[in-house]
Amino acid sequence: MKPKTSSKTYSLKSGRMSAGIRSLKASDPELFGYISDELGRQRSTISLIAAENIISEAVLEATGNILTNKSSEGYPGRRYHSGTLFIDKIESLAIKRAKALFDVPHANVQPLGGSVANFEVYLALCKPGDTIMGQSLIDGGHLSHGWHATAAAQIYKSAQYHVKRNGYIDIEEARRLAVKNRPTVIWIGSSAYSRKLPFKEFSSIADKVGAYLVADIAHVAGLIAGGVHESPVEYAHIITTTTHKTLRGVRGAIIMATRKGLGKDPMLSKKIDKAVFPGLQSATHNDMTAGIAATLHEASKPEFRKYARQVVENAKTLSHALINYGINIVTGGTDNHMMIMDLRNIRPGMGVFVEEALEMIGITTNRNAVPGDSSTPFYPSGLRLGTSAVTARGMKDEEMRHIARIIRDTVQLIRKYRLPEEPKERAAYLSEFRAGVIKDAKILNLRSEVSLIADKFPIYQDMKL
Ligand SMILES: *Cc1c(COP(=O)(O)O)cnc(C)c1O
Repeated sequence: MKPKTSSKTYSLKSGRMSAGIRSLKASDPELFGYISDELGRQRSTISLIAAENIISEAVLEATGNILTNKSSEGYPGRRYHSGTLFIDKIESLAIKRAKALFDVPHANVQPLGGSVANFEVYLALCKPGDTIMGQSLIDGGHLSHGWHATAAAQIYKSAQYHVKRNGYIDIEEARRLAVKNRPTVIWIGSSAYSRKLPFKEFSSIADKVGAYLVADIAHVAGLIAGGVHESPVEYAHIITTTTHKTLRGVRGAIIMATRKGLGKDPMLSKKIDKAVFPGLQSATHNDMTAGIAATLHEASKPEFRKYARQVVENAKTLSHALINYGINIVTGGTDNHMMIMDLRNIRPGMGVFVEEALEMIGITTNRNAVPGDSSTPFYPSGLRLGTSAVTARGMKDEEMRHIARIIRDTVQLIRKYRLPEEPKERAAYLSEFRAGVIKDAKILNLRSEVSLIADKFPIYQDMKL
C-alpha cells in the first residue's frame, strides 16, 4: 500500500535552487534582497511556531517552477484546456500518494489552503442556513470551523464547543450541543490543542445525530502519517488537511473521503470535487500540486516515521523542562508536537510580552489564549510552542532543554511588565516595553546563545541568496 521507499535521506542541502533565483538578483534586486534577508532570518533564528516547518530542497524544487505557466481547470482526463498531459500525471500522482498515505478511497489535492478546503466541505455538504459545529477559536479550534467573524458563520448557523477548565475538549458539551442543534457538519481537529484528538467519541456523537464528521488534521497530519497519532480514517466521513504543518511540505491542502464517508453518501467524492471545481476554484496551481506530490512522497518514507517520533519526543522534553522551571503548561503536558504555556501565574495578558521578548532574542512563537482566559484574544495569557521545525533541523533532547532554559530566563526578564487595563494605553506601553527590553544586556546574551544553537543546525547550506 505504501509507495516503495528510496534510500535517499531527507536533506536540507543541495545548491540547485540557487540557479533559478540568480536572474531575480539581476532583474529585481530589491525583491531579491528581501527574500535573501528572509533566508538569513530563518537560518539564524529558531522557529517554535507550531504551524511552521522547514521543508526539504526536493519539495522546494517541485514548487516555484515552470509548472505555474500551465492553465488547467477540471480534473485529470477531464480538462478545459489542452496540453495537460504532464499536469494530469502530476495531479494523478499526488492523488495516488494521498490515498495511499492516509488509506482513503478519494482525495482532492486542489484546495489552495486549509481554510479554503474547509469552506469547500461546507459547499459540498450544507445548504445555506444549515448548522455547523466546531471547537471555538479561543479554545484551540480553527477560524474555519464556524468562528463568528468568518464567511461561513454568515451563511450557516454555528454552534461552538469548548475545552474544560483542565484544557481537555468537553466531549459532553459537544454531545449536548449536537443533540440540541442537529448540525449537518461536525468538526474535530484543532490549531492549539496538545492532546490526542477524540475521534472515536466524536464519531459516536455525529452518528447519533446523523451529521457528517469531518476530521481536520492540519496540525497532526505528519504525526498520523508517521504513526505517532491515531488516524481518524475509521471514524470520520471526510478528512481535510493542510500540507505545510507537521506534514513538512509545501503550502496547500487536501480533502479526502473515507470508506465510512462513501458508505454514508455514495455521492460524497463527486460532491467534494464539484465544490472545489467549479464551486469555489477554477484553474489549478500546478507547481503546488507537484509540491504536494513531493511532500507525500517524503512522508511515506521510513525516515519520516523517525522524524515524527522525534517531533513528539522533543515536545515532551520541552514541556517537561518548562514545567520543571515552574512554567505552567495547559493540560500539564503534550501528546503531539505542541504545547500552550499558561502565564496567568505571572499575570493575565502576559503572552504578548513573552512573544515579543522571545522574538528579540531570535525565537519565534505565537501568543495564544488559555482555557478560561480572562484577557482578550489579541492580548491573551498564553504562548503556543511547537517542535516540528526545530526537529526538521535535527535538534534533539539536549537542545530542547537548552531552549527551555532560555525561555525561562526570558520570562524572568519581563515579569515586571503589566498589560495596562485601559486599551488606549496599551500601544504606548508596549513601545516603552520594547525600548526597555532591547537595551537589557541579558537580552543580548540570550540572542547570542540562540544564534549559536541555530548555527549548529544549519539549513539550506549551499543555497546562495
Ligand atoms: C492551519 C489550519 C487551517 C488553515 O490552513 P490555512 O492554509 O492557513 O488556510 C485549518 N484548520 C486547522 C485545524 C489549522 O490548524
